Amino acid sequence: MTREDYLYLLEHYRDEADGLRQKAVQIQNRYYGKEVFLRGLIEFSNICKNDCYYCGIRKSNKNASRYRLSREEILECCKTGYELGFRTFVLQSGEDVYFTDDILADIVYSIKERYGDCAVTLSVGEKSYESYKIYRDAGTDRYLLRHETANPVHYKKLHPDSMSFENRRRCLYDLKSLGYQVGAGFMVGSPYQTFGDIADDLVFLEEFSPEMVGIGPFIPHEDTRFAEEPSGSVELTLFLLSLIRVMLPEVLLPATTALSTVDPEGREKGILSGANVLMPNLSPVSVRKKYLLYNNKSCIGEEAAECINCLTNRMKRIGYSFSGKT
Ligand code: SAH
Repeated sequence: MTREDYLYLLEHYRDEADGLRQKAVQIQNRYYGKEVFLRGLIEFSNICKNDCYYCGIRKSNKNASRYRLSREEILECCKTGYELGFRTFVLQSGEDVYFTDDILADIVYSIKERYGDCAVTLSVGEKSYESYKIYRDAGTDRYLLRHETANPVHYKKLHPDSMSFENRRRCLYDLKSLGYQVGAGFMVGSPYQTFGDIADDLVFLEEFSPEMVGIGPFIPHEDTRFAEEPSGSVELTLFLLSLIRVMLPEVLLPATTALSTVDPEGREKGILSGANVLMPNLSPVSVRKKYLLYNNKSCIGEEAAECINCLTNRMKRIGYSFSGKT
């Protein structure tokens, strides 16, 4: 579809949502049955050298209480996760310079050494080709780096001058060329976002064809300049999940924590709109409420075991179960 086709669809999304959802679920069932992939998210540091205007852990937020997990603590999270049946670990953090390439590579290597049947995903921001190569050589399988917005003008409104649209793009193409399974994505309803911007996002996703697409509603954080902005719409997020499932039939599509933060049934609604991945939190409960990208983040009080029970029941109620695959 062209940008104009996407724009038309977006402008009429309420009329199109039901039909598209049915189509999306058909495709989801054809490729994945009624199975949902589980990924254990380990938020290992909220220290960040960047200053993205929307993000609660950005450098200039003096109210954020900073933490970083040690290698041993990260491995402990993996152990807990492994025993609970997780076979993919997603290590996410701010851009924390403490974690040099060598340190990160060692952590990934150690996880792969202990849990050879698991996939490791990194989500640690913008790095050089050489750094991405080091992580890849250490055994990293996947990398999540949302493109955030496919419109350079919109990008400028969300990020300081020290960051660039071009560099983020370069990163995504480098990751792909190194053989990572790559996840791109964007926030729905971020400040200044128009339907035209979302149409650009869709055109980019179609062209780049990532293995995974992470989208969730924008949610304001009180210590940012966007504190008074409204959250993104649940309905539009669900519509976009369906559209992306139809557009990229085999893509891995998470029902995100942000979606479950703005709607208590967000995970179920996400799966029933075409999503097929859940990423529960494996970070120690003691640090969970410090990795606050936005306010009111859901599920920050429960131990991983409670989380997985709750999610298993939620999935069962809508006729889905977890896949044992990575
Ligand atoms: N430092 C890593 C991880 C960033 S946090 C990186 O640069 O990729 C992961 C994602 O959370 C971001 O890519 C962004 O899309 C999302 N996010 C950040 N602030 C948010 C907010 N206020 N509301 C919703 N999502 C947000």
